[in-house]
Amino acid sequence: MLERGEVANSWRRERWDSLRLLTPNWQNRLPGLRYEGPEPDGYLTMGEVTEFIERFAKVSRAPVRAGTNVTSVRRTDDGYQVSTSLGEIGCRAVVIASGACNQPVVPQFADAVPPSVAQVTLFDYRDPSQLPDGGVLVVGASATGVQLAAELQRSGRPVMLSVGEHVRLPRTYRGRDVLWWMDASGIWDQRYDEVEDLTRARQLPSPQLIGTPERATLDLNALASTGVKLVGRWAAVRDDRALFSGGLRNVFALADLKMERLLDTFDDWARTQRHDDEVNPTERFAPTQVPETTRLQLDLRSGEVRTILWATGFRPDYEWLDVPVVDAKGQLRHDGGVVDSPGLYALGLPVLRRRKSSFIYGIEDDAREVIDHLARYVAAPRP
Ligand SMILES: Cc1cc2nc3c(=O)[nH]c(=O)nc-3n(C[C@H](O)[C@H](O)[C@H](O)COP(=O)(O)OP(=O)(O)OC[C@H]3O[C@@H](n4cnc5c(N)ncnc54)[C@H](O)[C@@H]3O)c2cc1C
Repeated sequence: MLERGEVANSWRRERWDSLRLLTPNWQNRLPGLRYEGPEPDGYLTMGEVTEFIERFAKVSRAPVRAGTNVTSVRRTDDGYQVSTSLGEIGCRAVVIASGACNQPVVPQFADAVPPSVAQVTLFDYRDPSQLPDGGVLVVGASATGVQLAAELQRSGRPVMLSVGEHVRLPRTYRGRDVLWWMDASGIWDQRYDEVEDLTRARQLPSPQLIGTPERATLDLNALASTGVKLVGRWAAVRDDRALFSGGLRNVFALADLKMERLLDTFDDWARTQRHDDEVNPTERFAPTQVPETTRLQLDLRSGEVRTILWATGFRPDYEWLDVPVVDAKGQLRHDGGVVDSPGLYALGLPVLRRRKSSFIYGIEDDAREVIDHLARYVAAPRP
């Protein structure tokens, strides 16, 4: 098991200081290891996640070779040649578990932003004190964008949030964590070959959720009530102006509708599976409030915004993979983790085999099935 940094490297090096998991503690299970602390309904800090994964590496006696960067994987006659910073390895099979979030995604028009405005990605951001004084434009309103917009607003800066398609969810529903509902109702166990539009499911933005001790909901209404200004999707830069799409009303209505449908699904499940007595009565939430006026453009030279924080998602990095299995969009071609090259496998990607695949607790079921396939492949007589 080769790791370029240390165990839990991404949690140690690539996250901001205030981040807590958005999955509740009871849900962060790994095979043979579960949270046993005093707050099963709480959310781990990054230090606690790192400890949890380190503990798992110890109890599972994972044969980790830390500080070993994989620089190339090539196909050979009977397997793969793996080049690393510490030497060469030949093997019959390779599991790619290098993560789905190795690099921040930033739109191309970022190049046209005037240099007087600082640009920060999620890999550079640690806390508000590192940003210049003055206004911040946070781009992207998924889990990361809403958390950071709230944090920057609290730091006393004027914050504008550019909102595109997003997934709205309440933190708790009928008294239970919304992720309890996703789990208990079977939605997170839905298999990749049952999902209607798999390509879309794999690209879905993360839900607007935050893990706080208060189990607070952080939706756009909550943000707007603290003074965050909502604008539409950032579409282009022209003559030093950021141009935002109109139509916030439709974007909000769609997210509200999808949330309502999901809550209906939860209610149906609770009724038909006789769980109604274990949870609070049905709830519904106020629609997302459309601002009376929305800006369609922003003069980037005016000084109103001094920093742009790109919360526009992540992508994997397969620069080191010298096997032609990556598509034009930079995604690995695979069928449920079985990559399009004999003996090559993947784990830890969105909806790899189930909707829960890219969550810590989702890996166990996927790993069992992918490794079954791998074991059969390795045991089979060589052609
Ligand atoms: C901001 C953020 C918040 C998240 N919140 C949650 C949450 O609340 N709950 C949850 O369950 N999941 C959460 N996730 C998803 C979580 O990251 C995944 O569940 C989990 O990290 C997947 O583990 P992994 O080992 O597959 O990938 P990673 O944790 O990304 O680990 C991949 C490892 O591969 C190493 N690596 C990469 N390339 C190479 C190379 N060429 N050579 C050697 N080593 C290499 C990296 O250093 C890294 O340590 C979050 C993800 C992000 C980005």
